[in-house]
Amino acid sequence: MGVSKGRIVKSMPAIFVGHGNPMNIIRRNRWTEGWAALGAALPRPRAILAVSAHWYLPAVMVTAMPHPRTIHDFGGFPQELYEMRYPAPGDPSLAARVRDLLAPIPVGLDEGWGLDHGAWSVLCHMFPKADIPVVQLSIDRTQPPSFHYELGKLLAPLRDEGVLILGSGNLVHNLRTYDWDRPDAEAFDWASSFEEQARGLLQAGKDAQLIDYPAMGSDAKLSIPTPDHYLPLLYVLGSRREGGAVSFPVEGFDGGSMSMLAVRISDG
Ligand code: ZN
Repeated sequence: MGVSKGRIVKSMPAIFVGHGNPMNIIRRNRWTEGWAALGAALPRPRAILAVSAHWYLPAVMVTAMPHPRTIHDFGGFPQELYEMRYPAPGDPSLAARVRDLLAPIPVGLDEGWGLDHGAWSVLCHMFPKADIPVVQLSIDRTQPPSFHYELGKLLAPLRDEGVLILGSGNLVHNLRTYDWDRPDAEAFDWASSFEEQARGLLQAGKDAQLIDYPAMGSDAKLSIPTPDHYLPLLYVLGSRREGGAVSFPVEGFDGGSMSMLAVRISDG
């Protein structure tokens, strides 16, 4: 809970989504329907701060342009996907607020990026009108997992300012074993086992173990072959208050090795 102009306001939930295959942009399936329901059930955010697996840089940057472009950062998909636009406005004042909250960590104000598919492939289902401003925060790939969790903590006050913190990646993301032709393929044992373990840790508030995920062994290694799709979860987790509830509004596996689990953090 926070206090705003004498009123007690409930904090905005923070959400991690598994974005999965870019085909979800034009598909209607259990994931996209889940995202639409999730968007409809939320209090309307003033703005969205998206942390996408696909803006993975050796620096912390925040998009600061008034009109971010839609980035089609995927190859070999049907033309229809490349024609899609998500024309949500930016929010330069939110970008400045993010830079201030993270100080003294240097944060670059970016004018060149925009909205990558990690962000807009989900937002086009959650908020199809594209009328809520969106700012993206990059993931500094030179930093350890604990850094990303700490950034989530520093960004937590945004939840009291009507800002939706949206992490977008996949809890389990192994493209080497992913079955592109069979979305309904049964999940690999290591994939479902890691997801189950992570769910338990999320519900028990065992953040330290989720931060130190390489120590979770071979299932974690296969589920997280590279950190980019996992780290957005740590921003969402870092923004959780003590007693904050965790729920899983979207669940399931795509192609056997991509967890589509969504994680929603709310006030306790
Ligand atoms: Zn992705």
